[in-house]
Amino acid sequence: MNSDPFESLAPRAEGYRTCAECGADCAPEPFDAGEGTGLRIAFSCPAHGVHTVVDPFEETR
Ligand SMILES: [Zn+2]
Repeated sequence: MNSDPFESLAPRAEGYRTCAECGADCAPEPFDAGEGTGLRIAFSCPAHGVHTVVDPFEETR
């Protein structure tokens, strides 16, 4: 079930995946947060939009 490639980047994402409003399991979507900021992973609910953004590399800085 957890076969998406970003699971390894964001192992804490289990809780983040769930939309707080409707409980939907949301797929992680990587996006570039800007120069010098790097990659972030957003969890976007189809009904409520992006509800969580995680920085998969925050512990490596
Ligand atoms: Zn939702």
